[in-house]
Amino acid sequence: MLNLVLFGGPGSGKGTQSAKLIDKYGLYHISTGEVLRDHIARDTELGRMANSYISKGNLIPDDLMIQLLDDVLEKEAKDKNGVIFDGFPRTLPQAKALEELLKKRGTKLHAVVGLEVDDEELMKRMLSRGAATGRADDNPETIRKRLDVYHNQTMPLREHYTSTGHYLPIDGRGSID
Ligand code: ATP
Ligand code: MG
Repeated sequence: MLNLVLFGGPGSGKGTQSAKLIDKYGLYHISTGEVLRDHIARDTELGRMANSYISKGNLIPDDLMIQLLDDVLEKEAKDKNGVIFDGFPRTLPQAKALEELLKKRGTKLHAVVGLEVDDEELMKRMLSRGAATGRADDNPETIRKRLDVYHNQTMPLREHYTSTGHYLPIDGRGSID
């Protein structure tokens, strides 16, 4: 088993690097952002609720995210060599919950790979992604809010995972390879 968290700001390349890691190690990829966007596209009850947070650049409440992750793990991640968590955890309560969810399944977190990219570069990347894909939260106002939320609510996890010995920083600039 290999359970990895890909950690980093919005637009840091978590999805892009995940795609390469799944190929190489046969892992199951869970992107909480993609799960939510899929609900929004299908106009489910959860999707409508999630959209009210995502469109403002806010995080979805922890209890909902944790339940959602538990469900996805139960349905999809059995009989895999491990999981890449992309976009989860984003808060300390989510990090505690992840530990419990893995323990309950007889496994654990092995490492947290941190893609480190400065805000200016993140802003540039998300603006070009927004232009290329039409992703609704990739607009200047929402991006600024997402960066704020990242610094205030998610960055404390870097400290947390450094103290537990899980955190592996990677320079997230430069070419994808
Ligand atoms: P990247 O470009 O590196 O993949 P991102 O921040 O642009 O990262 P997603 O991870 O897809 O994009 O997240 C999009 C939005 O979905 C977030 O801004 C947030 O509103 C919501 N979201 C995703 N994961 C979580 C989570 N673990 N907790 C709360 N909200 C979440
Ligand atoms: Mg993503």
